[in-house]
Amino acid sequence: MIDALLNFVANQAENEVFSGGLALGFLGGALAFATALARNAVRRLASHALPTLRVDGRTKAFRHLEAWLHDHPYTRRCRNLAVACFVRESFHEPEEQPVWLVPGPGSHLLRHRGGWLLLRREAVEADTRQKDREVITLTALSLRRDCLRSFMEELATRYDQRANSVIVHGPSEFGDWEEIARATRRPLSSVITAPGLAESLLQDAQIFLERRDWYAERGIPWRRGYLFQGPPGTGKTSLIRALASELDMDLAILDLASSRLDDAALRRYLAAVPSKAALVFEDIDAAAPTRESAEAKITLSGLLNALDGVAAAEGRLLFMTTNHPDRLDPALIRPGRIDRIAEIGPLGPADAGRMVLRFHPELPELAQSVEAALAGGGISAAALQGHLLIHQSDPWSIPLVLSQGRAG
Ligand code: ADP
Repeated sequence: MIDALLNFVANQAENEVFSGGLALGFLGGALAFATALARNAVRRLASHALPTLRVDGRTKAFRHLEAWLHDHPYTRRCRNLAVACFVRESFHEPEEQPVWLVPGPGSHLLRHRGGWLLLRREAVEADTRQKDREVITLTALSLRRDCLRSFMEELATRYDQRANSVIVHGPSEFGDWEEIARATRRPLSSVITAPGLAESLLQDAQIFLERRDWYAERGIPWRRGYLFQGPPGTGKTSLIRALASELDMDLAILDLASSRLDDAALRRYLAAVPSKAALVFEDIDAAAPTRESAEAKITLSGLLNALDGVAAAEGRLLFMTTNHPDRLDPALIRPGRIDRIAEIGPLGPADAGRMVLRFHPELPELAQSVEAALAGGGISAAALQGHLLIHQSDPWSIPLVLSQGRAG
């Protein structure tokens, strides 16, 4: 059969026209074959020889990568953009956070250190209870095996935001904690309190955190609670953030008034506070249940049990804030649950002078003038900060405004 075929081809080859067509056909076939071979080789090279790395959206490495993408010049030119998924809103100060843009879903080719990185961003469908998550696959157009590892290590050093931010965790819709924001670290000195108060709170918390064995030896649960009480805008939230910054801790914030929270959920959350996070209940007078609030989803006994429960995380710092300490149930703030109560009031004249100096260190006379304008009275730090921001270019009008305010 094969012989017959070869004979037929040999006979036909004598025909010149036919042999020309046959040569062309062979050429075309060879070309197609070579193309397929090359394509296959590239694919094999990409998947085997070229270093490839999958970065899961739930990891810290993913955040580092997004921070890098946000800064990369490619992102400024790119038309297919997405908002970085880990920066949502800042902790109480939305104006401090810019919107972080990164290249959107799909493939992107970026330059890095004279080489090229192929980046593919896609959403991976999750099974049942979990959320879909994003994955970035990086392929380095380089044969150096360790190039992606050193690239990711470099990003970690550069962007490890723990170095300059406090991570804020909140409840996720799936019943666990998730990162909801990153707040810039705040030095303790940026929060003006009564002299020595902030420092003494910091020292108190530091001693607590170092005393694990001391608590264990005495059989006392290793927990410490702080209540900051005072009018709005006096710096209660800022103080919590500054303390967390100094203690190198994160924050886990629960809104006790949330309709999604009941006693069982609260117990679960408190048993699973992220490690290194201090628990925060803000405006507890408005949010916490009372003995009378029968229809509330969280009951007072549920809250107390969750706070004391054996499952509640050990080594826990708890911060509560309130404007109305008189409305709190005594059981909620008894020692063991709340160990220190700090009054955070309006700034007196001298404290206000210190705040002015933080904004205008070159104008000690201005600070004196503000102190004189406030003599015998006080002002909330947030209000004074407002004046300092509005009158940045004409700060001498501040004492004037303050005296007029007092006269009026
Ligand atoms: P609170 O929690 O008492 O209502 P915040 O901490 O939210 O007050 O403060 C609101 C704003 O005022 C923030 O921008 C903060 O920086 C500023 N601020 C308030 N109190 C102080 C303070 N004691 N020292 C410095 N800044 C303050």
